[in-house]
Amino acid sequence: MALHVRGVVLPDDEVRDLWLDGDRVSLEPIAGAETVSDGGFVLPGLIDAHCHLGIAPGGRPVTSLDQARELALIDRAAGVLAIRDAGSPFAYPELDDDVDLPRLRRAGRHVAPPRRYLPEIGVEVPADQVAAEVTRQAAAGTGWVKLVGDWIDRDQGDLAPAWDDGTLTAAVAAAHAAGARITAHCFEEHSVATLVRAGIDCVEHGTGLTPDVIEEMARRGTALVPTMINIETFGTIAARAQEKFPRYAKHMLALRDGFGSVVAAAYEAGVPVYVGSDAGGGIAHGLAAAEMELLHAAGIPADQVLAAGSWAGRAWLGLPGLVEGGLADLTVYAADPRRDLRVLRDPQLIVLRGRVIAP
Ligand SMILES: [Zn+2]
Repeated sequence: MALHVRGVVLPDDEVRDLWLDGDRVSLEPIAGAETVSDGGFVLPGLIDAHCHLGIAPGGRPVTSLDQARELALIDRAAGVLAIRDAGSPFAYPELDDDVDLPRLRRAGRHVAPPRRYLPEIGVEVPADQVAAEVTRQAAAGTGWVKLVGDWIDRDQGDLAPAWDDGTLTAAVAAAHAAGARITAHCFEEHSVATLVRAGIDCVEHGTGLTPDVIEEMARRGTALVPTMINIETFGTIAARAQEKFPRYAKHMLALRDGFGSVVAAAYEAGVPVYVGSDAGGGIAHGLAAAEMELLHAAGIPADQVLAAGSWAGRAWLGLPGLVEGGLADLTVYAADPRRDLRVLRDPQLIVLRGRVIAP
């Protein structure tokens, strides 16, 4: 049966009516539609643009489709109706069109340097095999490739680029030649500068962004997914590394301490910033709203955080929202989240693909 929802559809300020006919939005009345919500504030759902459905709590790869599905359902219950999986050691193409799960955009496995990255997570390749591996992972994913741009180099005792500049640049070209967008895990300063100049589509974390690289991102339209929840864990990482790798520990703390200003500068420069929690492994699922509160605390206005975590983020992922013919995903909140983002923690209604999910 068709559904009917009335409320303030953000970002507009007017009360509007929406009809959902299967998985399609209609702005024209549908006779006999059931009214499932009247009042409140309506979003086309939240996004989590940096999420790992293939990494189990604790950091090991997920081992079954059911396990990946359960993680996605935690996000769904939090109002997340679109997920970009930023790298998965477990392939789960069977879930791409699962009607119960949030819309998915997936990278394949992380493409990582040998013997440096998290064990069992990435496919680890030397420089001369990176471009070919990127091509393979572009085919394994649905539109995205995930590169590990830098990580600790234990010989140097500090963060260091995963490969040389030429290899990083060739990785970007290989993804684009395969018709995929490419993003990279970047903590330190050099890899991110190289990748942005090479035309990468998105930067994950971006703690090492300097003002000139931020300017370049704004000029090119390169996106940033800060994952502020992840960056808050740098203190624990540094404490554990302090004895063996003091330079790395110091570097991580400096990156953490400067990150709020980096995010604010990127926003002010006009870099498109999107919401991603980095759920998977050590970070719990269902925290997209918490990430949005952190982005706001860093200086991004609440209405812009909402865009980054909802309609603008969906558009970036290629998912139409609450427009005529759009996709029938929405969340309803009791109060205006532009006045207080904490409202997002408690969705009153979740509709995914035209079906009422909760409460
Ligand atoms: Zn991640």
